[in-house]
Formats: sequence, structure tokens, C-alpha cells
Amino acid sequence: MSVLERTKSEEAIALENKYGAHNYHPLPVVLTRGEGVYVWDVDGKKYYDFLSAYSAVNQGHCHPTIINAMSEQAKTLTLTSRAFYNDLLGKYEKFATEFFGFDKLLPMNTGAEAVETALKICRKWAYEKKGLDENDAEIVVCENNFHGRTTTIISFSNDPVARKNFGPYMQGFIKIEYDNLNALEEVLSSNKNIAGFLVEPIQGEAGVYVPSEGYLKRAKALCEKYNVLFIADEVQTGIARTGRLLATCGNCSCPDKNCSGTPEVKPDVLILGKALSGGAYPVSAVLANNEIMEVIEPGTHGSTFGGNPLAAAVAMAALKVVKEEALAENADRLGAIFRRELNDYIKESEICSLVRGKGLLNAIVINDDEESDTAWNVCLRLRDNGLLAKPTHGNIIRFAPPLVMTEAELRDCVSIIIKTLKEFE
Ligand SMILES: *Cc1c(COP(=O)(O)O)cnc(C)c1O
Repeated sequence: MSVLERTKSEEAIALENKYGAHNYHPLPVVLTRGEGVYVWDVDGKKYYDFLSAYSAVNQGHCHPTIINAMSEQAKTLTLTSRAFYNDLLGKYEKFATEFFGFDKLLPMNTGAEAVETALKICRKWAYEKKGLDENDAEIVVCENNFHGRTTTIISFSNDPVARKNFGPYMQGFIKIEYDNLNALEEVLSSNKNIAGFLVEPIQGEAGVYVPSEGYLKRAKALCEKYNVLFIADEVQTGIARTGRLLATCGNCSCPDKNCSGTPEVKPDVLILGKALSGGAYPVSAVLANNEIMEVIEPGTHGSTFGGNPLAAAVAMAALKVVKEEALAENADRLGAIFRRELNDYIKESEICSLVRGKGLLNAIVINDDEESDTAWNVCLRLRDNGLLAKPTHGNIIRFAPPLVMTEAELRDCVSIIIKTLKEFE
């Protein structure tokens, strides 16, 4: 590494520090290019990307199909606003609703906006369809949830850093323990004002917590019993990440290229974002059937960029890639290898106590207390060894590579991870 090159990355970091708000704590590596499962830093060093921009880049960096659709559409028409029709939105809505098996889609841009949209739909449905008195609706959420960063969403977070000094908080949310059906039944049976249950099929940010087998299915059944909307936030778990098109697909046959997802659990309201665009552009969506989505009428909700033709072109291409390249099947197969290999290692490891996850959404737990910086130091060393990952909560490291990875690449990554962990034993 020459002195001049070293200056490049230091300079980029210094610029962000000086001119940018300090709302993140990035791993010190400055990236300049990406292709498939790889990214390169400004010094030309190549890394495996094991974060995939929090599972936005499931299709791999700069996928040619997606980038081509994007650049063609960018030359043609980018934004009309919804004041007028555009000739791609309807095509995309037809494509995506058929892809996921819902009647209608409401297009937004970021994940948090889609969550907000789902909450608004749920409340309106509760007043207009379920018959609750206005302003009485409550939505059940789970402890340690992550649904985004808006003032409403952080109101029902229990991450003190995300909440502190951002009050007053939005009312109308009840928090229960994740993966606890008794807690759900108790709140549903004792409170007539519940409108919906918002849940992550796997809690990603919390540290990749996979609920017990059958939890989602039984939670959905309870929601049906009490006439409450089951709202699945699949912003992180969706789009093939967990080895199925959606994590709520359970044991459906999604690994079959032609399966559009016969779900084990069909959410009443499905929230998608991140990899819906393959990481090329902010695209999010809320999907639901007519009897729910029809509560949304002109003027009740909107977004200047939501549903723009560039987003529509990008999202269609991104979903086609998922199907054509059988990414769910690949994630399912490689994820099993990943956990098997790491479990073998963990048997004799002092530093790593657990690997868990589904498909290619996995995490390891570092054997140290929450406040220690061991996980951070492991990530620094992984970086030095050519693989980028980041701790989630304290001592948990999430491993979520692009789903276009080959088995040989995955095995290479497993050996980098094990070699790195050995340096800490
Ligand atoms: C990332 C994420 C969000 C928020 O998405 P943004 O695009 O960052 O607003 C919401 N829910 C889950 C589960 C996420 O992982």
C-alpha cells in the first residue's frame, strides 16, 4: 500500500467525519466498487461482502440485468409523480402482486416508509372494517424489534440509543415478547382494540433470532381468531434471503424456480424493501388483498417518489433475477453448508459459542459480554483477511453475503472466518 493510496481512504473518512452527521459508526474501510459478491476499497483491495448492505444487495453488487434496466429507464423517464399515470407502474404492480400472491401493492421508497404505510393501513382498516372507535386502535409489536427510524417506529423500539431524547412518543403500540404465543394470545384476548400484530419473521437487527418452529403459523391463526391483521415486516428476511422467497413461506417449494411462493403463513399485510431493488435504488412496497388495501383512497397516503418508473423498472428486474438465478434455492443450500461448517468449528471453540440463522441470514455469537469490543475486533481482523461483516448487538456478528455466491466462494469464506476466529482463541 503506497502512502498516496493510504491517504485516499483516510481522506474519505475525514471528509465524512467533518461534513457528515455522525449517525453511524462504520467499519474503517472505504469502498469504491462492487461486483457480485465482491467489493473493492480505494486501495484496490478486494473483499467478500458479508453484509450485503443489510440484505439489500441479495442479487449481488451491480447485477448487469438490474443495472441495465435501470440505465435504460433512466434515459427514458425517471419521475412523473403520481399526479399523472406512468406506463411502468401498473406493469410492475401486476408483476409484483402475481410474484408474491396479493391483490394489490402500494409503492414507497424506504423500508421505514413501508412500515409506516402498513401501520396506517392497519389503523384505517381497524376503524373502517373492524369497527373500532376512532383513535382506540392498538398495534402489537415485539420486544427487540427493528422496523426503521421514524419517530413513530422508534416509539415502539426498546433500543435506548434509538429512542433517547426523541420523544414524545407515538401512542397505540403494545410490546410483547418475541416468539411467545401465550403473550400474544393474552393480549389479543384481553384487549378488544387490537388492530394488528407487526412482526419480523426472523429478528435480523436484534441478532438474527429465529423463532420456534410453527411460531408464525400459530401467531397468524391467533390473529385470525381475534380478527387482527398479521403484518409481516420482510424488509430484511424477504426476497430469497432466508432460503425461501419470503421467510413466511415456511416449507413451501420456493426453491423450485417456478414457485411464486405458496406460503405456509400468508400475511394479511406484507412489507418489502431492501433487496426489492437489488440495492440499486430505494424501492419498498406494502402488499395486501383488496378488502384491506381498499381503505386507502386518493389523498389518504402518498409519496412523491413512490411508484416512479425508474423504481418500477429496477424492481421488476431485481425480482426476475431472484427467480431466474434460483437465489432462494442457492441461499437454502449454501446456508446449510455454512452452519454445518461453523458448527463443526464451534465444538472446539472458546471464542465463538453459537451459529444460528436460516438460508444466508446467519449470525455467530462471540463468547464475551455485550459491552466487550471483541466482536468489533473480530470484524476488523475479518476485514484484514478480506471479508466484510459487522457486529449487530454487542457480541453478535451477522453474516449475510449476496445470494449469488457459489459453493466454492462460500467455502473460501468459511475458511477465512474460521482462520480469523482462531486468531482470537
Ligand atoms: C432495514 C429494515 C427496515 C428499515 O428500512 P430502511 O430502508 O432502512 O428504512 C425495516 N424493517 C426491517 C426488518 C429492516 O431490516
